[in-house]
Amino acid sequence: MDNHPIRTVRQTVDDFLRQMVKPTEDKEKVLFRFRQFFSKYRMEEYTFIQKTFEDFREIIWDFIDQISDEIDTEKVEDRQLGQSIQALKETIEANSIEDLKEQSRLFIDQYTEMQSRREARRENRLTSVKKSLESVKTQLTDANENMRKDHMTKAFNRKSFDEHMVKQYELFKTEKAPSCLLALDIDHFKKFNDTYGHATGDFILIECVKLLKSLFPEDNHFVARTGGEEFSVVLSGTTVSEAQKLATVALQRIRDERFVEDGVELRFTMSMGLAQLMNGESVDAWMKRADEALYKSKQEGRNRLTIAPHIVSADDPAA
Ligand code: GH3
Ligand code: MG
Ligand code: MG
Repeated sequence: MDNHPIRTVRQTVDDFLRQMVKPTEDKEKVLFRFRQFFSKYRMEEYTFIQKTFEDFREIIWDFIDQISDEIDTEKVEDRQLGQSIQALKETIEANSIEDLKEQSRLFIDQYTEMQSRREARRENRLTSVKKSLESVKTQLTDANENMRKDHMTKAFNRKSFDEHMVKQYELFKTEKAPSCLLALDIDHFKKFNDTYGHATGDFILIECVKLLKSLFPEDNHFVARTGGEEFSVVLSGTTVSEAQKLATVALQRIRDERFVEDGVELRFTMSMGLAQLMNGESVDAWMKRADEALYKSKQEGRNRLTIAPHIVSADDPAA
């Protein structure tokens, strides 16, 4: 787990241990997920670093090859040019105006042709290097994007969620733009797994993310998988009443949606907790309020939204 934030690793190990001691958990499945977490990270990092390094090395070699070829070609051309200059000098000394005209024309043609060939070669070389470097750049961007996403659902993963929350918090401190956090958890998902099997459970998690992304599609909406069947949507620049409207629509859509796998119609509901970031509040406190609101939704019967109460801090101008 080189170069891996200690927080992510610790969180994974903590989750693993917690699930292992929970009497209701299927130990084999927990162990399987735990092993998968490490092997996936390992493989992905290794393959990505290896591949980009190889690609980059190839580009540099190509570049060096091209330059050496060009130096050789230019040497030959320079020699030819030297010979032409010599011929021109001799013509000048011979004093024949007709020969001088002819030689000058030849020399100018040769010189301009050579210059345009050089120009074209340089252009080609730069284009090819630029193209190769762009492909490496795309690979790096893709790899970076993959590392920020959850492998299975393609939602943002816990690590990028944590980073995003800190960013929101910093933005709020400087710009005072409202920011909301919606915590979501699938209701009775364990029962769902028990009834339809783990693979169908996975299918639902993937479909759930697709649906959430369509319900929160804007650039300022950030959909993350923060736990097994737990998700978070960060709504930047959004007031609690705007977020409430979006969450209410989402709740209804999730309730109404039917998912079909192998001819079997599946449906599920979610419980939600919504909290707007308050003045003087820490990121942890903000997340805790959203979680508490979600917990209240669960306690009050699930399949509903709870808005975290507005806490007024000492440095809140409204206080
Ligand atoms: P509640 O309504 O209180 O949230 O009940 P629940 O059953 O959804 O909650 P609980 O936390 O008891 O169970 C969560 C379940 O989610 C248990 C776990 O096996 C399942 N789960 C977590 N991650 C995955 C996954 O990646 N795939 C599948 N299929 N199931 C998962
Ligand atoms: Mg649940
Ligand atoms: Mg849960």
